[in-house]
Amino acid sequence: MPNNLRTYLKDPLLHEMYSTIRRVGSIRSISLDITHRCNIRCKGCYYFEESMDKYRSPKEEEAFDAFLQKEKERGTNFITIVGGEPSLELTRIKKIYDNFYTSVATNGLRKIPMEGFENLPIGIAVWGSPETDFELRGGDKIDVFASALENYKDDHRAFWYYTVAPGHAHEIAGVVARCVANGNPVLFNYYCDIAGMGGDFDYRKGFEEVRLEIDRMIALYPGKILTTPYFNKVISSGQLFDMKWGYEVCTNISTNLKSNEERMQNGNPYNPHFRAYYADFETTRRCCTGEDRDCASCFDTWEHFSWIMVHLKKHLKSKEDFTNWLTTMYLFYVVTRMVDFEEGMALLEEVGKVRV
Ligand code: SF4
Ligand code: SF4
Repeated sequence: MPNNLRTYLKDPLLHEMYSTIRRVGSIRSISLDITHRCNIRCKGCYYFEESMDKYRSPKEEEAFDAFLQKEKERGTNFITIVGGEPSLELTRIKKIYDNFYTSVATNGLRKIPMEGFENLPIGIAVWGSPETDFELRGGDKIDVFASALENYKDDHRAFWYYTVAPGHAHEIAGVVARCVANGNPVLFNYYCDIAGMGGDFDYRKGFEEVRLEIDRMIALYPGKILTTPYFNKVISSGQLFDMKWGYEVCTNISTNLKSNEERMQNGNPYNPHFRAYYADFETTRRCCTGEDRDCASCFDTWEHFSWIMVHLKKHLKSKEDFTNWLTTMYLFYVVTRMVDFEEGMALLEEVGKVRV
């Protein structure tokens, strides 16, 4: 262990965080489109924008079981379930949940039952104020946000995965208030306008106002906002020390693909285990969120978690940098329920207070 790390870990709070995540162990993750189907069509959904649904999910359970078995043998211990809409495939989610650390993303229209999924981390999407969300996700027909609020009221498994558009910082306070009043914490994501609507949705506008408003929410709702000012800054600016976010530094690329070989050899760290599987449970794509997608448009929160995680060394120059690294790591383990949620949030809050 490097000397400075040993020194930082003399701080009892940091020591507790660090030893907790070490106890859980390292993550060998994959991302899986559990189905090619969805019950709505959102504007700017990366999945349908790139026609990823051309890879169809097999009906036979044997194909799915064989896939899981293979992944188990390969050493996978964490599966991020995406799609399509995962809640349309409850039996398959259950098989994953019973065998791997799991996180699932859903639009919230169809409730994932409590029975059998008691500690499943469920990220429910929301894309803005009721009006914005209605326009972007409900096609002006379905009130997805209202249904999801009802389905997950006071549900301890659920957190909102709130994707904010660059020009919509003014909506944040209202949306967060509703989510928190519903009994669920909030994790932020940053809207990238893959559908090319432009204007307030265009990522090229920058996320500075959004960043400031998210920081305000962190201060306003202790223990309810699943991000830190540091994490918020890294994602919204795309900057981590001297590195600029993009394909050359991206960590969540499928490592079995020849097309990613050059990237893997460029000296920047990546997740050696990672693969992003299409719904045929066989074919992998370039990365979690795209095949040909322009990386300049990528502000996805999950990828940025792992970008920070693989750069422990860069965070060892000062205790502040290390604390930023550790709290981000720890937050990931808390959000994904690999450590106890309530205890984890309390500890994060405590560390935040000490730093203030
Ligand atoms: S609910 Fe999810 S998978 Fe379905 S269209 Fe919207 S973003 Fe895409
Ligand atoms: S789109 Fe995002 S996740 Fe995919 S390779 Fe580019 S930077 Fe990485």
